[in-house]
Amino acid sequence: MSEFWKEKTFQEMSESEWESLCDGCGKCCLTKFTEQDESKPLIYTTIGCKLLDCTTCRCKKYENRFEYVIDCKKIEREDIDKYYWLPAKCAYRLLSESKQLPWWHHLLTGTRDTMHNLGFSVRDKITSEELVDPDNAMDYIARWPAQ
Ligand code: SF4
Ligand code: SF4
Repeated sequence: MSEFWKEKTFQEMSESEWESLCDGCGKCCLTKFTEQDESKPLIYTTIGCKLLDCTTCRCKKYENRFEYVIDCKKIEREDIDKYYWLPAKCAYRLLSESKQLPWWHHLLTGTRDTMHNLGFSVRDKITSEELVDPDNAMDYIARWPAQ
């Protein structure tokens, strides 16, 4: 496969190329808190969206997810200046900052297993929001998802 992400801008990529940049780590599907000061980074928790499969790290209803989760954020190409909320190793954020994809990215290795095995995804490390009392959400704050 050509290394299209090095040759094309986000706007030049096909929809399938754009979608393939996502490594499926699942970190962007965790509950996050914002500081009053918006210049500060988001605070991540280990609470997963109700549609996030905590083992595969995939959305259970990706195609029509907005019907079920109204605040699910679609990552748009033109929102490049708003990617600060994405985890530091997210491919969209890395490329938007003119950085390289990490060596373990599935477009380089051919498999997402490497990422999971290295512990860079949310696999088996999170709790579904359906099992969490919202009043206790602050107990689930963690640093690793932002990395
Ligand atoms: S954080 Fe980035 S790479 Fe990970 S699932 Fe979300 S969009 Fe995909
Ligand atoms: S609806 Fe799906 S894509 Fe959106 S946050 Fe939930 S699990 Fe992630």
